[in-house]
Amino acid sequence: MPIPGQLNPPQRLLLGPGPSDVHPRVLSVMSTPLLGHLDPAFLEIMLETQQLLRDAFLTKNSLTLPISATGMAGMECCLVNLIEPGDKVVVCFKGFFGQRMIDVASRTGAQLTVLDQPWGEVFDLNRLRETLKTIRPKVLSIVHAETSTGALQPIAELGKLCHEFDTLLVVDAVTSLGCVPLKVDEWELDAVYSCTQKGLSCPPGLSPVTFSPRAEEAMTRRKTKVQSWYFDMTMIRQYWGSDRAYHHTAPITMNYAIREGLRLLHEEGLEARWKRHEQNHKALKAGLTALGLKYSAKEGNQLPQLNAVFVPSGVDDLTVRKRLLNDFGIEIGGGLGDFKGKIWRIGLMGHNSRPAVVFTILAALEQCLRGVGVKINSGAGVAAAEEVFAGS
Ligand SMILES: *Cc1c(COP(=O)(O)O)cnc(C)c1O
Repeated sequence: MPIPGQLNPPQRLLLGPGPSDVHPRVLSVMSTPLLGHLDPAFLEIMLETQQLLRDAFLTKNSLTLPISATGMAGMECCLVNLIEPGDKVVVCFKGFFGQRMIDVASRTGAQLTVLDQPWGEVFDLNRLRETLKTIRPKVLSIVHAETSTGALQPIAELGKLCHEFDTLLVVDAVTSLGCVPLKVDEWELDAVYSCTQKGLSCPPGLSPVTFSPRAEEAMTRRKTKVQSWYFDMTMIRQYWGSDRAYHHTAPITMNYAIREGLRLLHEEGLEARWKRHEQNHKALKAGLTALGLKYSAKEGNQLPQLNAVFVPSGVDDLTVRKRLLNDFGIEIGGGLGDFKGKIWRIGLMGHNSRPAVVFTILAALEQCLRGVGVKINSGAGVAAAEEVFAGS
């Protein structure tokens, strides 16, 4: 086989559920020289990153750090460190990533209870209260931004509720961090994990996690070893803490990346960041509605950073997505699980949440829809979005 040519990937606009496009400043720090993982200069970067992360999570939790792997690793890390065989655990299931939690939790030997809700819906606090009251689980686990359905689960009151029953609350914030309000301390969340490739505009590769003092206490009370060697926080924290004991070689370049992604977040300000996502979502939503598309999540629970809409009847999902990719270089997501072939998922995350992107996807999608026979007034989507921007 001849040696393949130098890598030259095509230009894309990544508007799926992640990865989303990397901010140019992040790409730039990623081409700076490597440091050793115990170099004092790198240790300084680690400290800075942890503080930037605490500020992003709005927490004072000392145990806050990026796990060296993707969002799923954060899920596994949080669950395996808090659950021991025989522990009562409740997993809330209302989409694909809730299913993943069930799978991970069921491997820990937990006594698992699954609560389910139709895809696209969210859980009502009263129902959760009833469950907590009857089961009194050690852990309740829930997805904040369910990327597979586009629904935002309200969790502001859930931590307090869990603590009434001595339950620890684990939250999947993989698609939330850097896009929508997430207040770890104020909302009393006990273990939260996220990722780098969605709201933080970095490549995939790290999973920021944070554990409350309550969660730390539960970890110290463990009678059994954590089932995973790599994700055992008792060892990971020795590298991220003052011991600086070698555990694994930190992915240096990815740590540069998240530091820059977090600097961008704080330069803009959390409130301004959330507002920007909301604003661009409103414009996109007006445009998509004008194109005749309907959201899969209910009004009031729609994620601004992940717009999930039903594929119109009579339209082939793949034909449209292929044309978007081939003719316009735009990637959007298809459906997962119950929603396979039924929805499109359009992400406006981090750096990609901006008016130019809103207009681009609306114009391109209109072309593709018309190409498969959908009747749309020329420019309807773009005009509707423009109106929202003009009014703001
Ligand atoms: C993307 C995503 C994950 C998985 O993250 P990976 O980085 O793909 O491992 C988990 N939960 C939710 C809600 C997600 O959107």
